[in-house]
Amino acid sequence: MRVALSHVGCKLNQAEIEALARAFAAAGHEVVTDLACADVHVVNTCTVTAEAARDSRRLARRGARYGRELPTVVTGCHATTSPKEMERIPGVALVVNNHNKARLVEAVERHLLASAPSTAQPASTPGPGRTRAAVKIQEGCSVGCSFCTVPRARGPARSRPLKEVLAEVARLLQGGAQELILTGVLISSYRSGGVDLPGLVEAILTQLPLRRLRLSSLSPWAIGPRELAMWSHPRLCRHVHLSLQSGCAATLRRMRRPCTPEQFAAAVARLRAAVPGVAITTDVIVGFPGETEEEFQDSLAFVAAMGFARAHVFGFSPRPGTVAATLPGQLPPEVIRRRVATMRAAAAAAQGAFLAGYMGQRVEVLWEGERGGWWEGHTDTYVPVRVPAGNVEPNHWGWVEVEGVDGGAAWGRAVAPP
Ligand code: SF4
Repeated sequence: MRVALSHVGCKLNQAEIEALARAFAAAGHEVVTDLACADVHVVNTCTVTAEAARDSRRLARRGARYGRELPTVVTGCHATTSPKEMERIPGVALVVNNHNKARLVEAVERHLLASAPSTAQPASTPGPGRTRAAVKIQEGCSVGCSFCTVPRARGPARSRPLKEVLAEVARLLQGGAQELILTGVLISSYRSGGVDLPGLVEAILTQLPLRRLRLSSLSPWAIGPRELAMWSHPRLCRHVHLSLQSGCAATLRRMRRPCTPEQFAAAVARLRAAVPGVAITTDVIVGFPGETEEEFQDSLAFVAAMGFARAHVFGFSPRPGTVAATLPGQLPPEVIRRRVATMRAAAAAAQGAFLAGYMGQRVEVLWEGERGGWWEGHTDTYVPVRVPAGNVEPNHWGWVEVEGVDGGAAWGRAVAPP
């Protein structure tokens, strides 16, 4: 069976779709990138915002465009929270909720094939066309922020056993991955036996010859001495994503976030002191129910003061079944749109200032691919770096002298390693 896989949303969804690709290959199926030659399309959906849910449904409908019956299998958070809605989409043959995702390959075989081949050995590749592979270490969340559907869609926090994670990392390394990213919903909550996230990072970086390890995101309320000590390993990337959601204390209380702006700022200060050059990125929601103009200005000032390397700004959209959807003070769309634009402008200014610090610097890059005549890779701080196409190879390391920064990226010329 030829299987095409797509996903919407976060790095966890990306890690899962890569793991599903490996599981399909391991079961003897062919993973293809072109829907036109696929026998089945598997879509890992997302429901974090109304836009992500819409994109998920659009992707699920894509199979119906191929003038023939291309069965679509949907899984992930939107498929879990709205299975009936997904079933109604033309071409959707099977809905697999998050709880049954681990057995998705068998479910697809049972549903779509009378007897499935199952001969090949586990594939150890970084994933479809990637130099950076994602490894899921944890699932679910027990925090319960008032706007979020994740605890309902993915259940409470639970971790993958340490042994299983180490085995997957070793397999991916053998398959050629140069850079791995540890993902999950709340990876700061990782626990396997007596091992926490710093213990897992220590185990990976001391036992395996991995050149770069990334963390998808950390909880701002969990940046203590043990977490800071993780960066004693220079192979741990100096990029930390900390979700802020709002810089206003009252809004954060309505969001039921377990963190105040002061605690967030203190976590940022500790990281900057312990990890020179660290890039701190974030997510911000604007227009949360009851957000007054004054609260929005508080949040804006806080975001500007934090000097984020990048901030993803979302306008609040009520997700069915959440507490936030029922709160009074839902704001008109035009107010939310205006605040999104203002917050995005502040985020873009901070990003520009962060990137300007790279002018004239020499940085190490893992080359990923060519786009529009330019080769692109990332620094360990997750800055996209481009050079004119030339003497570089994908999945290889190189050095670049930065000559300009523009549009969220740096560009320059390839130079010899120092
Ligand atoms: S911490 Fe909050 S926003 Fe993040 S997944 Fe858990 S409930 Fe959702």
